[in-house]
Amino acid sequence: MNIIPLAPRGFCKGVYLALKLAKDTAKQNPDEQITILGQLVHNRYVSLALEYHNIKTLHNPSLSKEQLLEQIDGGIVIFTAHGISESIKQKALAKGLRIVDATCSDVSRTHTLIEEKLSMGYHVLYIGKNNHPESMAIVENFPSVTLMEIKDEIPDLIEPLFVTNQTTLSKREMEKTIQNILDKYPEASISNDLCSATTLRQQAVEQVHADGLIVVGDPSSNNTLMLASIGHVHGYPWIQRIESVEQLDVSYLKENMSIAVTAGASTPAYLTNQVIEYLNNYDVNHPQPLPTVDITKILE
Ligand code: SF4
Repeated sequence: MNIIPLAPRGFCKGVYLALKLAKDTAKQNPDEQITILGQLVHNRYVSLALEYHNIKTLHNPSLSKEQLLEQIDGGIVIFTAHGISESIKQKALAKGLRIVDATCSDVSRTHTLIEEKLSMGYHVLYIGKNNHPESMAIVENFPSVTLMEIKDEIPDLIEPLFVTNQTTLSKREMEKTIQNILDKYPEASISNDLCSATTLRQQAVEQVHADGLIVVGDPSSNNTLMLASIGHVHGYPWIQRIESVEQLDVSYLKENMSIAVTAGASTPAYLTNQVIEYLNNYDVNHPQPLPTVDITKILE
């Protein structure tokens, strides 16, 4: 088999820095209770590995950040790479919690941009996933912003209009949506804020032709889901989206086939490397058993 590992892989800079901040906080405060408000990044293996560092993840998709915050009664609270609203920060401080903000600089940049444009009199249209923590922080911080999902019809809005977006959407769909917005509002000011970690991974998927594509990542990671959906549009004959090598379906594997392997920006390199290594050593006539994940290696 010809295995094609696509680059970039491993944590993006925002995830890498968020994890470093969390681990450093735990090392410097060994006696404090440390809680992450939501998943630091969308990967359950990372949450499990953080428990080893005495860092608890408070995650429940059916509860808002405010409701989750009510469950923290002391210590240090870490805000995730997806960004946080000022009101949640103030509520945490009012509860006497120490706060550590791991918001990615690319996400912070969008918050700053929106603030500037609102003060200049623009109406802001934000394209993002409803209920995704990145979109929710924007809407909570700036209630006058209109949130639109990427496939929604372009709403009727007042001008002047400023348009920006969540960092991890599909590059192709974003370009199409921007064109639709410009058809309706030719004067709109646009800032396409997909981050480079997202666009480079998507481009890599589109640049390769292979018999199959394996996408390693958590089912809740938008970045990961986008890679699989771009693979479908690009025309890979089959695609497997797996959390780790443990979920690999070997019934698809045939001799002489080519398989591209990619991973979301929140997928630990260890998990992707395990898949690549297994495939590189795979013998169709004598398939080896699938390896298991060693949680202690996730943050290496
Ligand atoms: S995916 Fe992009 S926006 Fe999100 S943490 Fe990584 S670099 Fe930052």
